[in-house]
Amino acid sequence: MSDPCDSCSQSVEDALARDVRLQVDRSTVDNQRLCPTCFADWITRYKEEMSPKAADSGSTDSEIIVD
Ligand SMILES: [Zn+2]
Repeated sequence: MSDPCDSCSQSVEDALARDVRLQVDRSTVDNQRLCPTCFADWITRYKEEMSPKAADSGSTDSEIIVD
């Protein structure tokens, strides 16, 4: 049994899927099942969006967890 990718809706095998959780202040704010392609895109987008803010504030409590 394989579930679809949350981003592109294509079926993705468990062996290839990446379950990504984004946590801010210890609470889960984003939880997605992604295929390898969408996972790479997601990480790239996350870094682009979060890096400048992290640099501005000096610190951040957000964290990516990849199962
Ligand atoms: Zn996908």
